Amino acid sequence: MSINLINYEKIKSIVKSYHAQLVAVSKTKPLDDILALHQEGQIVFGENYVQELMDKFEKAPATIDWHFIGHLQSNKVKYIQPIVKLIHGIDSEKLLMEINKQATKNNSVANVLLQIHIAQEESKFGLDEQELAQILGNISRGNYANINVKGLMGMASFTDNQTQIKNEFTSLKKLFDQYSSDYNLDTLSMGMSSDYQIALDCGSTMIRIGSALFGERNYQKS
Ligand SMILES: *Cc1c(COP(=O)(O)O)cnc(C)c1O
Repeated sequence: MSINLINYEKIKSIVKSYHAQLVAVSKTKPLDDILALHQEGQIVFGENYVQELMDKFEKAPATIDWHFIGHLQSNKVKYIQPIVKLIHGIDSEKLLMEINKQATKNNSVANVLLQIHIAQEESKFGLDEQELAQILGNISRGNYANINVKGLMGMASFTDNQTQIKNEFTSLKKLFDQYSSDYNLDTLSMGMSSDYQIALDCGSTMIRIGSALFGERNYQKS
């Protein structure tokens, strides 16, 4: 077993003091590690890859809540929509349409977060402010009856520059505050193993932690 229980207890208590939530990111990690952390009381697990999530979902107890946090392709929505509690990375209106379609078919409401591009890097996915405004406008016009937008999600640049990370999280928090009351948003998903403390200080309500709990990953698909 390679889970870090000391970090788990530490992060759990920090998260609690901020009244935030912890998503344990278990991508590439074996089911046994997930079960071990679940045994310690962790309910919410985040996965990035559709096939991997489906395999784990089938074998894991139903008491686990799964979040999809990776980049989601429209043609794979049908596999995960029925089994996840929250989809973090909505980065196009096309994807939202497909999720709405599948949720309608499954007679359910899909909880989603809209991913905002806040990093300097080109490589990170996400909507810009204009696209966000457009999507929220379409939602308020009733175009997405089976979608519940719960909030926003973002990833800071991969850098040691704490000021830059803080500025990026602050810009996301500002957007969140701009829309949260009109659209009933209650979730701001930001912060990973290396930057969760900054994220919480900037107003994060949900951090996504992988390597600090499960150790370094051997390979990093993205
Ligand atoms: C992998 C991943 C994480 C967790 O990253 P760590 O640095 O291992 O904590 C969080 N969010 C997303 C979107 C990820 O892909």
